[in-house]
Amino acid sequence: MLVLVINSGSSSLKYQVRDVDAGTVITEGLIERIGLGNGGGGDGEAIGPRDHAEALDHVDRALHEVLGDRAIDAVGHRVVHGGERFSEPVLANNEIIRAIERLNPLAPLHNPANVLGLRAIASKWPDMPQVAVFDTAFHRTIPEHAWRYAVPEWFYTHHGIRRYGFHGTSHEYVSRRAAALLGLAPEAFDGVVLHLGNGASATAVAGGKSVDTSMGFTPLEGLVMGTRSGDVDPSILVFLARQGHSADEIDSLLNRESGLRALAGSNDMRTVVEAAEAGDRKAEVALDVASYRLAKYVGAYHVSVGGAKAIVFTAGIGENSVAFRARVVARLGALGVVLDGDRNAERSKEPRVISAPGSAIPVLVVPTDEERAIAEATAAVVRAAVPS
Ligand code: ADP
Repeated sequence: MLVLVINSGSSSLKYQVRDVDAGTVITEGLIERIGLGNGGGGDGEAIGPRDHAEALDHVDRALHEVLGDRAIDAVGHRVVHGGERFSEPVLANNEIIRAIERLNPLAPLHNPANVLGLRAIASKWPDMPQVAVFDTAFHRTIPEHAWRYAVPEWFYTHHGIRRYGFHGTSHEYVSRRAAALLGLAPEAFDGVVLHLGNGASATAVAGGKSVDTSMGFTPLEGLVMGTRSGDVDPSILVFLARQGHSADEIDSLLNRESGLRALAGSNDMRTVVEAAEAGDRKAEVALDVASYRLAKYVGAYHVSVGGAKAIVFTAGIGENSVAFRARVVARLGALGVVLDGDRNAERSKEPRVISAPGSAIPVLVVPTDEERAIAEATAAVVRAAVPS
């Protein structure tokens, strides 16, 4: 089955075509500057497509060149917010698309763009089966004691303010692969999964299900990220508001001007590690703050899952940053976790163990592949709905 995976942003559209049965990527691409024109800069850059429908025409032409007469069988969309309704991938009809649209207030940057992508496909290829795969869905199993904030009831009842969690597609995929690497059935996997990319989150997985995760109502909560602060005392926001900063400024300060960027001057982990190794004190402090926060979450989630059988690193930093992994694991001595320096330093695209044989909990690196997970989920939903 050929599945077109779409990750639709407000001004970009990322796509990948996968042959699900062969497990291969046929082609991929990125359309940018949607709805932005050429900025009037006269710099010779191509004018971006007017809207998502026009972007899709570009994709269609690009696919035709690669696929010839082979047709796409289904489209799978990454949808950021599934609210409380969606706990698994669904076949998207008009009612489902409207339901995703009603969740726009919970993810104002992302869900409207996802809806544009779904509608663009529906109008271009009306008979194409489309599946929505939600970033929040894996976390629908989180129990109330972990998702509820200790705030007045109407925060939740009127505004839906609770913890939702994100990166669910990655956490689920990586949990399954980690279980397989350890020779466990997916439902026998208890562990802590650390998705460390530009955005970063830790998830406590018990019996193969998410029981807690570090991102909350929005992706701002939890770990130190590239440009996000993660956990702060909420009174800081009130303090800044009283100092005259607007809601939009505070939002931008915490989401785009914080994290590694604020501490070390760069949101790129490679740059921060290089600076620290060259003796830059700010970079050193940034790595300390980020690794300490992360180690604290690992300790907490070891308790949440009733004793982790694995600690798993994934995504850009988790898969590639030998130095950052070493700094995190060095803080886990109280759990009896011991890294194997040589295994940690090995470069590989394969899932692997990087802890020493005597480590009380194995430490794993398991590359994530959200597109593959979305393509496989899409194929499964379509096959169940449209028996061939
Ligand atoms: P996104 O959340 O945008 O998908 P990624 O998963 O690609 O992000 O992760 C981006 C982060 O991974 C950046 O901080 C980058 O510095 C880091 N990273 C990527 N490659 C390496 C590498 N070889 N060594 C260290 N860090 C890396």
